[in-house]
Amino acid sequence: MSQTTKTLFQRIIDRELPASFVHEDEHCVVIKDINPGAPLHLLVVPRKPIARLIDTTAEDQALLGHLLLVANKVARDAGHGEAYRIAINNGAAAGQSVFHLHLHVLAGRPLKWPPG
Ligand code: AMP
Repeated sequence: MSQTTKTLFQRIIDRELPASFVHEDEHCVVIKDINPGAPLHLLVVPRKPIARLIDTTAEDQALLGHLLLVANKVARDAGHGEAYRIAINNGAAAGQSVFHLHLHVLAGRPLKWPPG
């Protein structure tokens, strides 16, 4: 999926829109979700504006690993114990609404399976 205009998350990364940042490094940022679905709801967003998980390639292998490790760190650091969920919605029919890859990190309440 080609990207001709900046995504919402790209504008947040570029500080054109406000967000609550909890982590930042050269490859990604982590922000608080504006409409949290759990007491902890963070979004791990790569600086690279990949639209969907399905658009990643072997070139993104290290980046994808990094995003998971960062998700793990921010979840652990948030103080909700070891029960948390990492989720990626791929495509509109799966609930994706922002077409800039992001990992949801949810914790702080019982998390049912499967999600709705
Ligand atoms: P998804 O539906 O998987 O694409 O997730 C997009 C997420 O971005 C949703 O959970 C929204 O609540 C969240 N979101 C939308 N706009 C903002 C924003 N300006 N700042 C932080 N989170 C946002």
